[in-house]
Amino acid sequence: MATVLSRKSRYSEAEWAARQELAACYRVFAMMGWDELIYNHITVKVPDEEESYLINPYGMHFSEITASSLIKVDIDGNKVDADNPWAINKAGFVQHSLFHRVLPDVHAIIHTHTTATTAVCSVKGGLKPSNFYACMLEGRLAWHDFEGITVREDEGPNFLKSLGTKRIMMLKNHGPVVMGKTLPHAFLNYWVLQRACEIQLATASMGAPIEVDMAVINTHQRDSRQVQLPGGPGRAEFDAMVRKVDKIDTSWRD
Ligand SMILES: [Zn+2]
Repeated sequence: MATVLSRKSRYSEAEWAARQELAACYRVFAMMGWDELIYNHITVKVPDEEESYLINPYGMHFSEITASSLIKVDIDGNKVDADNPWAINKAGFVQHSLFHRVLPDVHAIIHTHTTATTAVCSVKGGLKPSNFYACMLEGRLAWHDFEGITVREDEGPNFLKSLGTKRIMMLKNHGPVVMGKTLPHAFLNYWVLQRACEIQLATASMGAPIEVDMAVINTHQRDSRQVQLPGGPGRAEFDAMVRKVDKIDTSWRD
């Protein structure tokens, strides 16, 4: 009798763990309403394989993604999972592969088009330090002028110039790119940005926002950095959201 290999056994332990964490992250984004039809991307580097990363199958909704349906791509955009029938979205590949290639500290990258973040990307003056979360992000955002859909490799040098040493970039008229040292780290950075933008939208709808002084912002940023939970930045928050996902559907593990 032929042995049927489990899907898991096709991957190294480290890759399988990365696949599960990324699949869980897609489910968290779907649960939070941060999905966009079949578009947008979250990518991670494959551990111990600096030259490849995992991306969502193009055509699948975030809520359908599983550990084994994620596509492994090499740094030049070639699909490594030859038997995965799904395609890759070029817009996701071009942008993310550039950042993964040249930024060794970046393990995970998130790009969305949520209403709140895209609205802030599309307004003159961008994110204002008028709420708790926006104050945490003051001075941490890079901005990049709109050059059309991100499929052209010649936009790469401009992306890097705009990004500089920052790790959150607001693509004007488009949406944010949020990076992290780990996937939970990128998730937490993204959550803070999403909340900051949602609250700015609500505040602006009521009248003139109260802007916070730079001295207070500096104190706020210094003191919020001191609040650390075990497991590294974002770990406790991410795991809590995954437990919530598990109450809906646990199939992301497969
Ligand atoms: Zn986009």
